[in-house]
Amino acid sequence: MNDQSPPPMPGCRDVPVLRERGQREVFCGLTGIIWLHRKMQDAFFLVVGSRTCAHLLQSAAGVMIFAEPRFGTAILEETDLAGMADAQDELDREVARLLARRPDIRQLFLVGSCPSEVIKLDLAKAAERMSAAHAPNVRVINYSGSGIETTFTQGEDACLAAMVPVLPETDARELVLVGALPDVVEQQAVGLLEAMGIGPIRVLPAPRKADDLGLGANTVFALTQPFLGDTHAALERRGARHIPAPFPFGEEGTTAWLQAIATEFDVAPDLFERVTAAPRARARKAVAQAAEGLDGKSVFFFPDSQLEVPLARFLTRECGMTAIEVGTPYLHRDLMGPDMDLMVQGPVFSEGQDVDMQLDRCRAARPDLTVCGLGLANPLEAEGLTTKWAIELVFTPVHFYEQAGDLAGLFSRPLRRRAVLKLDAA
Ligand code: SF4
Repeated sequence: MNDQSPPPMPGCRDVPVLRERGQREVFCGLTGIIWLHRKMQDAFFLVVGSRTCAHLLQSAAGVMIFAEPRFGTAILEETDLAGMADAQDELDREVARLLARRPDIRQLFLVGSCPSEVIKLDLAKAAERMSAAHAPNVRVINYSGSGIETTFTQGEDACLAAMVPVLPETDARELVLVGALPDVVEQQAVGLLEAMGIGPIRVLPAPRKADDLGLGANTVFALTQPFLGDTHAALERRGARHIPAPFPFGEEGTTAWLQAIATEFDVAPDLFERVTAAPRARARKAVAQAAEGLDGKSVFFFPDSQLEVPLARFLTRECGMTAIEVGTPYLHRDLMGPDMDLMVQGPVFSEGQDVDMQLDRCRAARPDLTVCGLGLANPLEAEGLTTKWAIELVFTPVHFYEQAGDLAGLFSRPLRRRAVLKLDAA
């Protein structure tokens, strides 16, 4: 446990990956609206979709009640091609009505979905037309959250990638932290970096349009979420430079992530040590407590949130677990490489999904813990396997030092619960 030395065997960056293209069991990218609308306080997300999309948003939003909600669905009824011009006019009218009623909206996202009527509708053109009509007060941007094109966390990636081209140009040397984090977690990261004298620090997504960051050849950026492949590419197209690092999960990941940025900004080692020593010690202690029961246990990841690789690194390096399979929807080696470098060879890395084949592998392996989506968890529990819902990892604050213990606890709790149930049944 807590072995911080390099792995004794070569890391996993270059291991062969099992690629599967079959039926998959994941949410669509609309889900991201649930956390994105909280981060962007003057944004409105208008899903152009079907009643299914409206139901998904409502149920994903759960019990949250808003005096003025900041997302909605424009439901497109079945129509033929001749009706498409009407649909465009109707969308323009709805948006004009919404913006007239809600002058607080500064950014409007038109979010595409699956139905063929929506696919036929050119939302990029619609966004251009609406931006021209409502500038300079409101910026209209489109992206797709369709289940055909995106899985779960890719909605955030698509949204941020769509924002990058409209951000202003700057020559300033600035650090941009990329990825939507709960405010308190974001403040912790910014606080640690500022204590090392690093700045100015900007975040994407910015809380308001007026806080827009600029981009240019002197911009350096660090990703806080591992699922931002398209955003990473869009930022590089704008001339910004990525600071590669393991993702800030657990004490080790957080330290390595901070160290990569500190090195970029020439922070003296003793200053780095002074700033990080106390939170590192707290994180180590919290992980050791919360991870009780994980040491020596095996874990199997089904592909879901794209957090799987850095989490497998955390569980194997800091919690003493063994990874059997690390499934992820997409394995972007430029982004995952630093995490894979730290992992000892052994687990199967799989990309994409053929759910039946993967279920067979999981049943054969009988892992102590299976991390998977809601749809698979219940059947696997019924078969006696202990599961962890991957979606909780996205909705719970888990990044950086102060959350490291909570992160370990998310994995140890299902095992404890299973042990208690067994005792009760005995
Ligand atoms: Fe379903 Fe597609 Fe709408 Fe998502 S975008 S809720 S997958 S119809």
